[in-house]
Amino acid sequence: MNIPRTSFPRVVIIGGGFAGISLAKKLSKKEVQVVLLDKNNYHTFQPLLYQVSTGGLEPDSIAYPIRKILKDFPNFIFRLANVEQIDAEKKKIITDIGTLKYDYLVIASGSETNYFGNKEIEAHSMAMKTIPQSLNLRSLILENFEEALLTTDLIERNALMNFVIVGGGPTGVELAGALAEIKKGILPKDYPDLDTRLVQINVIQSSDCILKGMSAQASAKAEDFLEKLGVNIWKNIRVTNYDGKTVTTNTDLTFETATLIWAAGVKGATIKGLDAGDFVTRSNRLLVNEFSQVKGYDDIFAVGDVASMVSPEFPDGLPMMAQPAIQQGKQLGENLLKLIENKPMVPFVYNDKGAMATIGRNKAVVDLPKIRFQGVFAWYVWMFVHLFFLIGFRNRMVVFINWVYNYIRFDREARLIIRPYKKKHRIQ
Ligand SMILES: Cc1cc2nc3c(=O)[nH]c(=O)nc-3n(C[C@H](O)[C@H](O)[C@H](O)COP(=O)(O)OP(=O)(O)OC[C@H]3O[C@@H](n4cnc5c(N)ncnc54)[C@H](O)[C@@H]3O)c2cc1C
Repeated sequence: MNIPRTSFPRVVIIGGGFAGISLAKKLSKKEVQVVLLDKNNYHTFQPLLYQVSTGGLEPDSIAYPIRKILKDFPNFIFRLANVEQIDAEKKKIITDIGTLKYDYLVIASGSETNYFGNKEIEAHSMAMKTIPQSLNLRSLILENFEEALLTTDLIERNALMNFVIVGGGPTGVELAGALAEIKKGILPKDYPDLDTRLVQINVIQSSDCILKGMSAQASAKAEDFLEKLGVNIWKNIRVTNYDGKTVTTNTDLTFETATLIWAAGVKGATIKGLDAGDFVTRSNRLLVNEFSQVKGYDDIFAVGDVASMVSPEFPDGLPMMAQPAIQQGKQLGENLLKLIENKPMVPFVYNDKGAMATIGRNKAVVDLPKIRFQGVFAWYVWMFVHLFFLIGFRNRMVVFINWVYNYIRFDREARLIIRPYKKKHRIQ
């Protein structure tokens, strides 16, 4: 990998997401050699992926070069690499560009889509966890309408205009809201020769409410917002299969659709080689102690989505959200410096800053620790928070200008099929 050894201890970080970047920033002006590895050369702001999928934002405005984030730190080294294995005994990692020894290893590899073992759903559904996946979805949505224009088969046309989103969490809700706005404001103008009133947007949720992690008030209001936008919400229903044409459920209900979007869950993106066995949770996250140390190891840490830090308040681990990842990364940075200086580490305490989701224009729900609100003001708060956490001044400006433009013009101009998506199955 061409990384020289220095007199400083070497901290290797796998992943330049929220957790990895906040950790690297904490360490990078200290007497430590920081090596960050990521399979992408950019950081992705995942909360806005749904806007890329629905043509509201260009992909470049929610990505940022990792090298640029840390360009001013002399002891920081980045390598574009996919980490394939950890050899804890020899204190080294194996990647697609070579091996690297570490003194301290931090796994910050995030999470990946969880299909709960259903290979058919995995093969035929669309995920929205990365920028390329969001671009695939954007292309598919637009290709569906182009195809719907051409077909004379009514069943096929309906299936092309029927969108099924599995999962009523923030991702599913935000995507459904955006699709509903496209149906109302854009499709009738773009496809005047297509009866776009026939477009259906369905959200299927296995439990009895959407936005389950938020307050009952937020959940009810989000449902109300979505229903007013014409979204069909199906609760207490579990999707059992999708063969590229028909969605089956645990009830008699089935859906004929060309597009199933799987937003029903994520699991830890663990890396093989660790003897973590009993220390991996049901959602494939690595159990860590209050110092983010992976159970069973003194020199291997995990932060963010891939880590499960269990406490009486969070028996299933901290939520897989940006804030726990950022806070864990920062705290681990401080603790690693203490560890190197043989000082006692400080246990992590999560500062829950709340949760929010937007449903569309002027519609959002916000749960803060002491106050909950919904509607227009919540929407402004949602926008402000997302702009604030976006990395890079240019990205903030571009996103802000896009939002203002889209708001005034009722538009989403990035509805482009730049990279056509090849469907595995065609409705026929
Ligand atoms: C569509 C969507 C919407 C979301 N909306 C919100 C929201 O509104 N609010 C909120 O708080 N959270 C939201 N989240 C969750 C939030 O994005 C995650 O909790 C957060 O990104 C976790 O940070 P992380 O650093 O653990 O992982 P990530 O940000 O996922 O970063 C992991 C990094 O590791 C890299 N990596 C993975 N495996 C390897 C490997 N083997 N080798 C090299 N590199 C590797 C990846 O390329 C990636 O850059 C959303 C997530 C999604 C997918």
